[in-house]
Parts: sequence; C-alpha cells; structure tokens
Amino acid sequence: MASAYQKMTDAELDAALADLERQADELRALNLKLDMARGKPSPEQTALSKPMLDLLTSESDLSDQGVDADNYGAPDGLPSARALAAELLGVDAANVSVMGSSSLNLMYECVLHGYIHGIAGEKPWCQQGEVKFLCPAPGYDRHFTVTESFGIQNVPVPMREDGPDMDVVREYVEKDATVKGIWCVPKYANPTGVTYSDEVVRAFAALKPAAPDFRIFWDNAYAVHTFEGEGDELMNIFDALAEAGAENRVYEFASTAKVTFPSSGMAWVTASPADMAELRGAFAAMRVSPEKISQLAHVRFLKDAAGVAEHMKKHAALVAPRFALVEKKLTDGLADLDVATWTHPKGGYFVSFEGPEGSAKAIVALAKELGVTLTPAGAPWPYGRDPRDTNIRIAPTYPSLDELGQALDVFVVAVKLVSARLAKAER
Ligand code: PMP
Repeated sequence: MASAYQKMTDAELDAALADLERQADELRALNLKLDMARGKPSPEQTALSKPMLDLLTSESDLSDQGVDADNYGAPDGLPSARALAAELLGVDAANVSVMGSSSLNLMYECVLHGYIHGIAGEKPWCQQGEVKFLCPAPGYDRHFTVTESFGIQNVPVPMREDGPDMDVVREYVEKDATVKGIWCVPKYANPTGVTYSDEVVRAFAALKPAAPDFRIFWDNAYAVHTFEGEGDELMNIFDALAEAGAENRVYEFASTAKVTFPSSGMAWVTASPADMAELRGAFAAMRVSPEKISQLAHVRFLKDAAGVAEHMKKHAALVAPRFALVEKKLTDGLADLDVATWTHPKGGYFVSFEGPEGSAKAIVALAKELGVTLTPAGAPWPYGRDPRDTNIRIAPTYPSLDELGQALDVFVVAVKLVSARLAKAER
C-alpha cells in the first residue's frame, strides 16, 4: 500500500519534509538521552522483589525438605525450587534441573553438550561438518549469538502470527540431517509477542527429524508474563509430544529473570527422562552442585505458581500502561500515514515494529541522533541481516512513563522523516 508521503504531490512532500526536518532539529536541541533498547524491567519492577532479600538472615533455617542450601549437594536444585519450576511449566519435577541464574546460560550449556559430547550417542556436532540451527525471525538475538559462536549455521525461518512457518520448518527438519536444532520462544515471543497456536505446537511435536540428535530449544522465558486480561494460553509441548507418541525431542527452559531480579534469579531446564539423564551427566562435569541460597530465597518468597501469579499481577500493573502508551503514541502518530504496522501483545517485553522497506537502519540511526537508543536494526535476524530492513524491536518496560512518552515522540518523528525521505528519493 502506498504511504501518505508517496501519495503527496511534489510540493506537498517538500512541505512535509521541511516541517519534519524542523521537528527533528527541535528534538536534537533537547539533547535527550533515552533508552528503548533492551528488555529490562524498570526499577519499580525489580523493587517488587526486594522483600525477598529480607527472608534469609544468619538466623534462618537453610534446609529445604532435608537438603542443606548452604552446602554442596542436590545437583538438580532444591526440592522446593524444582517443584515450583515444574509447576510453572506443567511438567514432572523429576525431570527438572534448577541451576544458576540464567536460562540463556543453560541453553549455551546444552548447545555445548551437543557440540562437544554429542546428543543421544550421535557424533559430537563439532565432528559432523556443517551443522545448522533454524532461527524463526524476527527472534531473540542472543539465541542466534549462542549458535553463531560455535560456528553453527543460523538459518532464518519466517515468523507468522501463530508461530514459525511450520511448512518451512518441516521441510528443513525432515529432509536435512545437518539441522540439529531450532530456537523457539513459544509464548509472547521476543520480539513479536506471538504465542504459538495449538496447531503449531502439535506440528512441532509431530516432526519426524532426519537427525536423531535434533532438539527443539523451547525457551519459555515469558510463560507467566501476561500484562493484559487473561492473556494467551500456550499448549504444553510435552502433552503434544505424548499425543504424537514422540520422545526425546525438546529441551524446555525458563527462569525468574523477569519475575524477580534479572541475572540474580533462578533458571531451569526440563526434558524427557532420557534427555535429562544425559544432560545431568554433562552438567555434572561442569559443577559440583548449583547455587541454592538464591533458590531458597525464591521459594520462600514466591512459594508456588499461585504466588508467582499474584506477583506477576504487580508487574502487570507497571508494564501494561507502558504498552498502552506505545499503542497510543504509534496510533496517534502513524496510523493515518500507512507507513508502518506493529504488534499488540498481551504479555512479554516487546513490540515488533515494521516500517517501510529499507527504513529500519535509517530510523534507528536518526532516533539515536535525536537522543533515543533503540535495539540495532537487524538484531532480531541471524547475523543481523534483516532482508527487507523493515523491523525494529521496541522495548518499553525500562524507561519511566514520561521518558517513554518522549522517546516514542522522537521515534514517531524519526519514522515519519525517514519515510518521507524515502518517498522523495523514489521520485
Ligand atoms: N530468553 C528470552 C527469550 C529472553 O528475552 C531473555 C531475556 N531478555 C532471556 C532468555 C534471558 O534469560 P536469562 O536471564 O534467564 O538468561
């Protein structure tokens, strides 16, 4: 569809450009320093979990169901922490290992395991020549960095409104034995906010991989991060696997990064009993046992899934107005111009914005010039290559509402000016 700028006469477009250049100059003069780049909770959000810090003192009983948190032992984590982690994902606690504070770190360790030791008795990936991972895009840049860092080839797969394009996934996974994995964020995906439909989840479970050492990296980072209404329902991938009669296919990850404190939460992985037995062997070579004092604080603070749900309502009260402001500013500023579309998530941390073809890098650069840092254009694609240069990830949670409003005003001017410049260049 032609944009309002493309439809203007030459004289109208020149006048619009002059007006937008003037608005940009005014913003530049304000010397703003605003950040909408990374999905970080705001200081008010992390403050919600500060009472957790008061729960453990030198007087506290540091045992959990007979396990001492203040010593070696419990390589899969404290019993209560495993129970909480399992309840949140709807899986059996026997198949859960709670370890460390970063789920991304666990994902890295699982890729490392495939690379160095090999999965399910197959040759290590490092001895198999070319190895590929599928990367639904736009997706989470740090996933792609993990596999890229091993020299694994990242292959983009289109994202649709209900998840990755499963025809493309099936074609690769079932025909190409060099495809060893796929990165998935199945709920409130980073950055589209999409939750995979039951049909997509079932299609994942029904895959017949060409490679026996193919695993789905199911990063359920935003499992409990609804900020609007009832939110989205994600079908349990292990239920779908049971339905399909498939096993040993999925590594699922999650953490409390955006429930309590990013980098100081608890993270976990779950998989089939056979896959967990194998992963435990790999983890056992990496550490004696995981950090458990933080696990103890977490379970005493959050207690159970109901406790987490209560806590997440407090996050929602802080996050929802920010997403509403994004929706309002983009609608007020851009809806009439036919230059852009954006997503309307009910949870998670991001809005995914699509500008005109060939605009994203220029918009991000101009916003930077006007004092607003955005995620680098292209970052949500493997190797930073957005083929159409249209996508920008908006991360609205960290700034205050005032700052966010200002940053969005700058963003809207940058989108308009770049769109008008592109329309002018086409003439
Ligand atoms: N997965 C996704 C999809 C994320 O968006 C993030 C954080 N931005 C992470 C993982 C990182 O989680 P952690 O802190 O547990 O490593």
